[in-house]
Amino acid sequence: MRQVIAGNWKMQGRLADISAYAADLKAATPSAMLLVCPPFLLVDRFAAALLGSAVALGGQDCHWAAQGAHTGDISAPMLAEAGASHVILGHSERRADHAESNAIVRAKAQAAIAAGLTAIICVGETEAERDAGEAADIVKTQLRHSLPDGFAGLIAYEPVWAIGTGRTPGTEEIATMHATIRAAVVAQLGESGRALPILYGGSVKPDNAAAILVLPEVGGALVGGASLKAADFLAIAACARHD
Ligand code: PEP
Repeated sequence: MRQVIAGNWKMQGRLADISAYAADLKAATPSAMLLVCPPFLLVDRFAAALLGSAVALGGQDCHWAAQGAHTGDISAPMLAEAGASHVILGHSERRADHAESNAIVRAKAQAAIAAGLTAIICVGETEAERDAGEAADIVKTQLRHSLPDGFAGLIAYEPVWAIGTGRTPGTEEIATMHATIRAAVVAQLGESGRALPILYGGSVKPDNAAAILVLPEVGGALVGGASLKAADFLAIAACARHD
């Protein structure tokens, strides 16, 4: 299966950044699938700029309702209409900044699926949880309560302490957690759980991507800071495994 290299622009990037970035991505021929998740307002402009390319677009969140009185929110059908095929859900910054529980993430995933979007559900432990030896249990609990029945999207393992810090777990630790996640999703979803891509996220850069993307059960990367520059994002994509 092709690895997925997903860029999460977070609340960064302006209209003026799109055309050069999109042109660089369109000119590239990576073996990996590329996915860019810009701020909501840029999704439809990005879709126009990427027209004719295989680069996919995603949102960074969606509401659990398709429409209604939810000031400031964006629904999954709106994202789909703007040109997104994917949506990131349960990112640790959403869980922390907006008190998103596993149940909320699950409801959002159901809304995304109903709108025809592919959900990328993020899980990961904090540093305190890791230091307490609770990382695997925390991640398994997040999976159990965040994934809808029959989930067929993607999972991103993102240790909270590795996001935006320049720190990453050791490669053996990443491999061990990905094996734990695989076993948990197979137990939860049955055989279909074997096909779910499990991305790693947290300070993936051009200089560490190859060592991470080669690991078993790593189905790609969710990239924050290093996705903002097309050259860095493409350098990471160039490290993707050719299965
Ligand atoms: C992220 O926001 O999902 C992320 C992994 O960020 P960074 O790559 O900057 O650590």
